[in-house]
Amino acid sequence: MSEQKLTTTETGTPIASDEHSLTVGANGPTVLHDRYLVEKLAHFNRERVPERNPHAKGAGAFGEFVVTEDVSQYTRAAVFQPGAKSETLIRFSSVAGEQGSPDTWRDVRGFSLRFYTTEGNLDIVGNNTPTFFIRDAMKFPDFIHSQKRLGDSGLRDSDMQWDFWTLSPESAHQVTYLMGPRGLSKTWRHLNGYGSHTYQWINADGERFWVKYHFISQQGVEPMSPADAERIAGEDADFYRRDLFDSIAAGDYPSWDVYVQVMPYEEAKTYRFNPFDLTKTWSKKDYPRIKVGTFTLNRNPVNFFAEIEQAAFSPGNQVPGTGISPDKMLMARVFSYPDAQRHRIGTNFNQLPVNQPHAAEVDNYMHQGNMQYHFPPAAHRVYHPNSFGGDGGPAADPQAGVEASWESDGELVRTASTLRSDDGDFVQPGILYREVFSPEEREGFHQVLGGQAQAITIDEIRERFFQYWTNVDAGLGQILRDGYAQGAVEPATDSHENT
Ligand code: NDP
Repeated sequence: MSEQKLTTTETGTPIASDEHSLTVGANGPTVLHDRYLVEKLAHFNRERVPERNPHAKGAGAFGEFVVTEDVSQYTRAAVFQPGAKSETLIRFSSVAGEQGSPDTWRDVRGFSLRFYTTEGNLDIVGNNTPTFFIRDAMKFPDFIHSQKRLGDSGLRDSDMQWDFWTLSPESAHQVTYLMGPRGLSKTWRHLNGYGSHTYQWINADGERFWVKYHFISQQGVEPMSPADAERIAGEDADFYRRDLFDSIAAGDYPSWDVYVQVMPYEEAKTYRFNPFDLTKTWSKKDYPRIKVGTFTLNRNPVNFFAEIEQAAFSPGNQVPGTGISPDKMLMARVFSYPDAQRHRIGTNFNQLPVNQPHAAEVDNYMHQGNMQYHFPPAAHRVYHPNSFGGDGGPAADPQAGVEASWESDGELVRTASTLRSDDGDFVQPGILYREVFSPEEREGFHQVLGGQAQAITIDEIRERFFQYWTNVDAGLGQILRDGYAQGAVEPATDSHENT
C-alpha cells in the first residue's frame, strides 16, 4: 500500500472530514460557511455536461497506428509515411439512443478515430457503414428528431421514423444496410469502420487525389442475432462497452487494417456515381482498396469522463496532405462538430488533455474564453501582424499548411447535386440486397422488415414503406406486402429503437 495522501479542497487545502458537515453543535443547523461542503455539492451539481445529441452512448480506447505500406505517392501527410507510428484514440457509439440506452439496439455505430500526428490531430469521424441516410446537412436535425422522441409522449415512434425515411428516398441505401445483418454487431470489435465521406489527399508534388477510408476489423465482421440483441438489451445494457474494456484489460487487443480507395482527381468529374454523395459507395471493382497500415487498441481510458466523454472529434481536424471534399454533409460537419463541443464542454475544449495534440505544438493568436488553461510566454503578442518577430508569436506558412482545394464556380442556389448516370437512390441498395446479402441474410432482412411493417400504425406511411422497398427491389416489396397481408411475419424480435 502506498502512503495515504490527504484529501483537500479544490485549491489544495487539507480538509477535516468527508463525512460530517460543519454544524452548530452535534444536532444543530449546518452553517453556510462550511466551504468544503458547499464546494463539494456545487461541483456535484455540475458533474454532467450535456450529452451529445446524436451518438450520446459510447465508449473508447487508445492505441497505436503503424503504417506498413507505402502510399507516399498519394499523400505527403507524415502520419501515412512508410513506417510512421502514431498514438490513436477511438470512440464507438450508437446514434439514436441516449446515454443509458442499451448497446444492442439496432442502430448505426459511430466509429470516430483520432491520430495524434506530428502535424496535429487528424480525426476521421465515421460510422460502421460506408454511407449515410441523407446527403444535405439541412436535413440532419429533422432526421435525428425523427429517430429520437415524440414531442408529446416522449416516446420513440416507428411512424415518424418511417415517415421521414420514406419521404427521403436517399435514405434507402443506409436503411438497407441498417436493417441487414450489419445493423446488429456481435461486439464493437467485430465491425468495420468507414470514413464514409470522400476526403482529399495531396502528395509532396501537390498532386491531388480523392480518397475513402476503410477500417477492416481483424476480428472479422460478425453479426448478433436479433434474439440475442433483445435478450442482451435487458441483461446488460452496457454489453459493447464492457466487452471492449474487458478485452483490452485482458490483453486481447483488437486491431483494424487501414485501407483507402483512391480516385484520381479528374475522374471525380465523370464517375458514374457522384463521388461526393454520402449516400453512395465507390464500387471496389472501380477503385480497389489499397492497404495503408494497421491500428491496434491497447490502452483503456484511466478516466472515462475526462478521456472519452470529453473527447471532441471533428472531421475538420485534417493535417497537411489530407483534407475535406465538396461533400455537402462533410462541409457542414466541419462546422457543427466543434460547435457541439463548444456548447457541451466550453470554448477551450481543445486544451483538455485528450483533445490537445500529443505529438505537435499549438501556437496562434486565439485566447481567453471559459477555462483557458494554456497560455503563451509574456512577450507573445495577442495580435498578428506584430513587430516582435519570433518572440511576438508564430507566423503562418503557406507551404507548411497545405490545404485541400478544388475548383468551383456557379450561382448560389438551393438545389440537389447534378445526377450522374447511375445515381438513382435505389440502385446501390438494390445491389446490396440482391448481390451482396446471402440468401440467409435476405431471409433475416425480410423478418426484420416484416416486424417494422407491423410496428407502423398509420396506413399511408405503411403504404409508402411497401413502395420504398418495392423501389429497392420489386420482389422484396411483394414479399413484404404478402407477409403483412397474411399476418405471417412475426414482429421483429430485435429492437430497432422503439419496436
Ligand atoms: P463488392 O462486391 O466489391 O463489395 C461488397 C462489399 O459489401 C463487401 O466487400 C463488404 O464490405 C460488404 N458486405 C458484405 N456483406 C455485407 C452485408 N451483409 N451487409 C452490408 N455490407 C456487406 O462490390 P461493390 O464495391 O461494387 O459494392 C456493392 C455494394 O456493396 C454497394 O452497393 C454497397 O451497398 C455495398 N458495400 C460497398 C462498399 C464499398 O465501399 N464499395 C463497402 C460496404 C458495402 P467490407 O469488405 O467493407 O466488409
